Order: sequence, then C-alpha cells, then structure tokens
Amino acid sequence: MINVTELTKTYGKNQVLKGITTHVRQGEVVALIGPSGSGKSTFLRCLNLLEKPTSGIITIDDIELTSKHTDIGAVRQRIGMVFQHFHLFPHMTVMDNITFAPRKVKGLSAEAAKERALALLERVGLSDKADSYPSRLSGGQKQRVAIARSLAMEPDIMLFDEPTSALDPEMVKEVLAVIQGLASSGMTMLIVTHEMKFAREAADTIYFMDDGKLVEQTPPEQFFANPQSERARRFLEQVL
Ligand code: ADP
Ligand code: MG
Repeated sequence: MINVTELTKTYGKNQVLKGITTHVRQGEVVALIGPSGSGKSTFLRCLNLLEKPTSGIITIDDIELTSKHTDIGAVRQRIGMVFQHFHLFPHMTVMDNITFAPRKVKGLSAEAAKERALALLERVGLSDKADSYPSRLSGGQKQRVAIARSLAMEPDIMLFDEPTSALDPEMVKEVLAVIQGLASSGMTMLIVTHEMKFAREAADTIYFMDDGKLVEQTPPEQFFANPQSERARRFLEQVL
C-alpha cells in the first residue's frame, strides 16, 4: 500500500533521513522505534507531506506523493495523523472538533457529521463528552478525541507520533487500547512509540531507526528476542 524508495530529507547541511526504502502492506501495523533524533518524526511527516522530501519516491497505492502533480490535499485526507500533543481546537466542543473537517473538507451535512462523530465517540469510550471543551478533559481523553477526529475523515492510513508520550502513566493504557482496537480492525498504521510492550503486542513489524536509516524491519518476536544490529541491541538494553 505504501512504497518508499530511497527517501532522503535534509535540513540545511543536516541529512536527517539517509535513504529509506520500505513498503507497508494494507492492514499492516508498524511500530517505529529508535533513539531520539534518529528521524522517526521526520519520516512520518514525509509520509503525509507535512515535510517535503529532499529526494526519493513515496507512493500510496498508485499515487506518487512525491510527484509535482499530486494533489496534496487529497492525499492528506487519506492519511490521518495523531501527535504527541493532541492539537485539538481549544475553543470548540469535542463534537465540533470532530465534525469540523468532515463538514468543511468533505462537505458532509451537519447531521451526517454528527452521526459519524457520535459513533466514533462511542468507539473511543467518550460518548458522554460530546459537549465538553478540551480544557475539561484529561490528557488521555484529549488524545482519544484526537484519534476520533482523525478517524472522522475516514483515512486509509493512520500515523501516530508518540501518542502516549505526553500522558500520565495511568492514561497510557486507555489510549493504547483504542490504538490496539484500530489495529485489530485492519487499519494500516505506523506508530512511533516508546512503549515496547505495546510495540511487541500490537505491531506486525518493528522498524528500528537509527541515524536516519531503517536499520531493521523485522517481526516483533524476532526483534525483541534477537535484534540483528549492535545498535538495536544497545537500544533495547537501555529501554527494557
Ligand atoms: P525523532 O523523531 O526520531 O526524535 P526527528 O525526526 O524529530 O527525530 O529529528 C531528526 C533530526 O532532524 C534531529 O537532529 C532534528 O534536530 C532535526 N530536525 C527535525 N525537524 C527539523 C526542522 N524542521 N528543521 C531542522 N532540523 C530538524
Ligand atoms: Mg519524534
């Protein structure tokens, strides 16, 4: 579904992505792990063109994202992204946060957008929060709203950049449970995470990134039991 060929990204003189080649199947769940500064966020951001790749090719199905002629807006609608710091609209209720883009971008009627939002709120366990403002929610609740908001655009692919890193420990579980549910439903996903137990249980494939390269792409059992590279071995010693 996603094909990446020799992707590079350079900021000034700093080459942050040093030639990434991979492909993600439909329904595959990828956990992207690696040291801070290794390029994980940059890689995700290139996948939905929040960053412009310096060179290389990214295709999603038959659409080449890196072609000049591609409609970036249309591509982004197919790819949902959830960030560490939620980015909810503070002046809107939960309901309005979720219905805003489907109405404005997809032209859904108020009624249809609301119906969809209610179904999604139920899915993330927040049916009773539709009329609340974000400031009244816990971090875990905010993140679940952010996930519902993203899903309201009916993306084919979901990207998560450290979705639980800003949360108090007791809220991590509820957010991971929602992501795990999405994984089980067949959503294609890439998740940057420091939650190794979650990565092991939820992912089909672990991508280990170090210094701008994908050093390993292996099933979790293999990665955690017997990492191939010295770098991954050292990383695991530090985090496990
Ligand atoms: P990770 O998510 O793995 O911690 P990032 O992708 O955020 O890594 O960053 C990788 C490198 O790219 C870091 O050295 C960071 O300083 C640099 N970087 C990221 N974004 C920018 C930017 N907008 N401008 C300049 N340098 C950046
Ligand atoms: Mg990052």
